[in-house]
Amino acid sequence: MAKMRAVQVSRAGGPLELVERDIPDPGSGAVRIKVQACGICHSDSFIRDGLWPGIQYPRVPGHEVIGLVDAVGANVRGWSTGQRVGIGWHGGNCGYCDNCRRGDAFACETESLVTGITSDGGYADYMIAPAEALARVPDELSAVEAAPLMCAGITTFNALRNSGARPGDTVAVLGIGGLGHLGVQFSAKLGFKTVAIARGADKVRLARRLGAHHYIDNAAEDPAAALQKLGGAKAILATVTSAGAMNSVQGGLAVNGTLMVIGAVDALAVDALQLLSGRRSIKGWYCGTSIDSQETLAFSVLSGVRSMNEIFPLERAAEAYERMISGGARFRVVLTAGN
Ligand SMILES: [Zn+2]
Ligand SMILES: [Zn+2]
Repeated sequence: MAKMRAVQVSRAGGPLELVERDIPDPGSGAVRIKVQACGICHSDSFIRDGLWPGIQYPRVPGHEVIGLVDAVGANVRGWSTGQRVGIGWHGGNCGYCDNCRRGDAFACETESLVTGITSDGGYADYMIAPAEALARVPDELSAVEAAPLMCAGITTFNALRNSGARPGDTVAVLGIGGLGHLGVQFSAKLGFKTVAIARGADKVRLARRLGAHHYIDNAAEDPAAALQKLGGAKAILATVTSAGAMNSVQGGLAVNGTLMVIGAVDALAVDALQLLSGRRSIKGWYCGTSIDSQETLAFSVLSGVRSMNEIFPLERAAEAYERMISGGARFRVVLTAGN
């Protein structure tokens, strides 16, 4: 049987190990992807640290995958070998439960399928993916450029376009790291008056380069007061993993403004008076499904939004993961499989 390389975690807290495995065959409704690039996401720590309830080991992480359809399983329509595809966090859905039929496939009630968590992901030469979870990848994007758009990109783009803000409205992006550097670009290209918020005066040039119209250094000034000086934000995209930072911007929302939470934090403090007096809201946003990924990629081609990446070959995945989790990488880290 033909073999491939994969990088797996064998137990909670265990290392990322490079192993040889049999190349898997796609079952009914699935395809095999010959992986070209796979981004490393902070959420890969769910596998590494055993934080996902019921996770089974060994598991191959990776939910920012770009590659070519290499084999097609039974009962798959619309996909053929050689097509360029991507798969993100959303790892499939049943199509027949109430939520799926209502158009909320992200919340499928039958199974909660997550790429690289409930099945093996893209830290490998090949992976299996359900056909409904595939996005088409445009030729204009390289595999490395496209990979981070499958999670960091779709999450920021989809949250922004569903935030209720309209072109010309003021939108703030809290954080300009792995998620935020894409969030600022998308916000500016979507036509919002874009305010980047981060710590330190040194980031102002980066923020401008990404398209921000204003920059707030939240280490030097109160970001809520600074936003109110600009008239208040119709939406704030909170990309950070600090609840304190999220708390500190809530007062910067305009009337009818929404805090879009996409960074995973345990608990947020909420000022109820602020919410009700200005009809403000706080909303979480799930990244999206395959069609949202596909639209993220298409909009990135249209508007010139690009991810900024450090690139490592698959066999150095452990080192690349450490680079990401330690905060050493400024933006995104992407593995290349060499296919
Ligand atoms: Zn992710
Ligand atoms: Zn369903």
